Amino acid sequence: MSKNVVTFHYTLRDPAGRVLDTSAGGDPIVYLEGAGQIIDGLDEQLRNVPAGTRTCVQVPAARAYGERDANQVRQVRRAQLPVDGELKIGDQFQAGADRFAPVVTVVAIADDHVTLDANHPLAGVDLTFEVEIVAVRPATPGELQHGHAHGADGHGHCQ
Ligand code: ZN
Repeated sequence: MSKNVVTFHYTLRDPAGRVLDTSAGGDPIVYLEGAGQIIDGLDEQLRNVPAGTRTCVQVPAARAYGERDANQVRQVRRAQLPVDGELKIGDQFQAGADRFAPVVTVVAIADDHVTLDANHPLAGVDLTFEVEIVAVRPATPGELQHGHAHGADGHGHCQ
């Protein structure tokens, strides 16, 4: 099956219309279809959309960053945290020394205990993407083999 490499600009909003992220004023996003380079729900809905199209794509939380998981919210002792100095609600840090350790957010502080939330900040949030498709072209054999887009405006690596 043939796949395309798609270049697009986007503005991401939450259900209240707040802008969460945008590529406006920066480089557009370049991705290989179906390769997991962008969230599944957006990837699926941009299939067969031609270059030049401006559209609005709604992606429910389950197809974006997932639903919130209550088991990812835990209370720990303040002294267990790898953080010196003052701690405040909204602070984020990695839950371990491993650089792939999950990022946790401080959601409550009480006495010597702190409540941490390891859900993705956008878990449980339905997303709306305002999208402008800049370019669509067939993927090259190398891109299909690697599973990502290549090129001056795409993914660079040392292969
Ligand atoms: Zn590659």
